[in-house]
Amino acid sequence: MSDNSAIEWLRGPDGRRGATWNFVTGCTKVSEGCRRCYIERQTPMRVAGRRFDGPHIGATTGVMLHPERLDMPLKKRDPLRIFVNSMSDLWHDDVPTEMVAHAFAVMAMTPQHTYLILTKRPGPMRSMLRSDDFWKAVGEAGRGIAFARVRGKYRSASPMQLTPDSSADGYWMPVRPLPNVQIGVSTEDQATADLRIPTLLATPHIAVRWISAEPLLGPVVLRDEWLAADPESSTPALDWVVAGGESGTDARLMHPDWPRSLRDQCTAAGVPFFFKQWGAWTPTGMVGIGNQGPRFAYIGDPVDEHGHRIVMENVGKHQAGAILDGQTWTEYPDA
Ligand code: SF4
Repeated sequence: MSDNSAIEWLRGPDGRRGATWNFVTGCTKVSEGCRRCYIERQTPMRVAGRRFDGPHIGATTGVMLHPERLDMPLKKRDPLRIFVNSMSDLWHDDVPTEMVAHAFAVMAMTPQHTYLILTKRPGPMRSMLRSDDFWKAVGEAGRGIAFARVRGKYRSASPMQLTPDSSADGYWMPVRPLPNVQIGVSTEDQATADLRIPTLLATPHIAVRWISAEPLLGPVVLRDEWLAADPESSTPALDWVVAGGESGTDARLMHPDWPRSLRDQCTAAGVPFFFKQWGAWTPTGMVGIGNQGPRFAYIGDPVDEHGHRIVMENVGKHQAGAILDGQTWTEYPDA
């Protein structure tokens, strides 16, 4: 478990570095947002020589399970913001339900931590989280942790909060949703937003629902009902929107209007907005016309009758920073 992640949105309002908890490593590409997936560039994957077998959708590194890491948060007393499986997807086909249930039990019994989960597989997530059998499996795993705690292990763990219909000699059913678990879906363009956000919002038992529009590959219009829940409907709305451009070699361009539009939509609806980064390419503030190259590129439609277009410069993620129209945007949902 790394307690020193550089992921910007993991810092939280107090600005401290967050942690990553990787009890699964490796994944399979499911959409364009995965094309330049960063996990194979992470040290543990590089050292192990685990790479995707191509750039295409369906390319995989293979998935490795690390059950010995499941109890790590139980040993951390001080509050952390923890990105769950930053090097995989919790709802990948190759991750067993029992392992996810155990992870949820750990999260339920460590209320001192805030957990952030991000998936590109909201369908399996919804199926799992609306299943009472899954939550009973969470309770069962929690019972095992509780017994270990009574024997002196896991002193940083808290008792699991149970629903009244839990049965002392039958099953444990945890109180849902877990207030310290925030679940989001990746939405790199309109198609993935249209596909994944309704599924996220239709998934029960989530305390905080959010999207990560990173790498943002196109404009995204958020429907009104995604941003503000209809009081007559039981469907919730989004609690948080994160956006950012792609970084690294061969990073794709993000038109400045794309994060701008998301910010404006969120601001109008009162939804917290976090601009994570420009990525490798930053807007120069100029318009131009001519040859493109590794350093400069043009994006979007012509902005005048001469055919000039917005000029982006590849300066690298650190220099590009995260200033959007003169200010940073680091808003968080109420937890
Ligand atoms: S789902 Fe996430 S971790 Fe998996 S390949 Fe896509 S970007 Fe990488």
